[in-house]
Amino acid sequence: MSRIVFVNGEYLPEEDATISIFDRGFVMADAVYEVVSVLDGKLIDMEGHQARLGRSLEALGIGNPMSDDDYLSMFRELVSRNEMRDGMIYLQVTRGNPGDRDFTYPPADTPQTVVAFTQSKPGLAENPAAQTGWSVITVPDQRWGRRDIKTTQLLYPSMAKMMAKEAGADDAWLVEYGKITEGTSNNAYIVKGDTIITRELSHDILHGITRAAVLRLAREAQMNVEERGFTAEEAASADEAFVTSASAFVMPVVQIDGAQIGEGKPGRIATRLREIYLDEMRKTAV
Ligand code: PMP
Repeated sequence: MSRIVFVNGEYLPEEDATISIFDRGFVMADAVYEVVSVLDGKLIDMEGHQARLGRSLEALGIGNPMSDDDYLSMFRELVSRNEMRDGMIYLQVTRGNPGDRDFTYPPADTPQTVVAFTQSKPGLAENPAAQTGWSVITVPDQRWGRRDIKTTQLLYPSMAKMMAKEAGADDAWLVEYGKITEGTSNNAYIVKGDTIITRELSHDILHGITRAAVLRLAREAQMNVEERGFTAEEAASADEAFVTSASAFVMPVVQIDGAQIGEGKPGRIATRLREIYLDEMRKTAV
């Protein structure tokens, strides 16, 4: 069965889905995106992702072509038409198709392009990697200065992921002015004693929806949270480390640049946070 995808109001088999070669998303990466996880056929933290989509579009002066209700019913329709139990929905909104290539933005009434598709990942929450943990390498952060906007400019994160792969690691942590910003597609944390440390929010990192939920749940569970930058050296000597993202949830990190972190296996706090997060998200899924 070929996937049914969504393009500008239509549900189409993936092989029939097309957008213009002049689309700003294609020629300028003038586009934002969201990835929402699906567990047992239900959407995880949909509200958070919709709110961030609105913020990303607003920061770039792109109109939001659909209402929250429209996105919700469209996502549900995709899950249902593709009979997906576990996986992700990828959504992209671009500034649209001006009919030619030009650096200036097209008129504000140019219709935005909206594309969405499912990625089925049976057993997404039972990822065996969570039992062993990831290894990461550090690489310089060479992305642009507005990483809080979730744009489709993903070439450098892709390059960093390839550097990790070539080094035999699972991911790369990006470093700027001596401090870790975040992972290629996740937020980064260390644990020292009973304190969870993660970089504070700014233009330098993506404001992860999973980050917000995990920090809220950690505080509710009386854990200490410190929002500040940390170095690779501090990470290497930490008791635990982990990353969060909509599709990896809470993923333990057990090695950085070849050095073992803590006992070299998923730590107590990361493991507990993963359980608390998944429990809460399954309960509030829509
Ligand atoms: N940082 C970056 C750079 C990312 O690409 C992502 C995933 N999109 C995240 C953090 C995690 O964000 P979220 O928890 O919303 O998936």
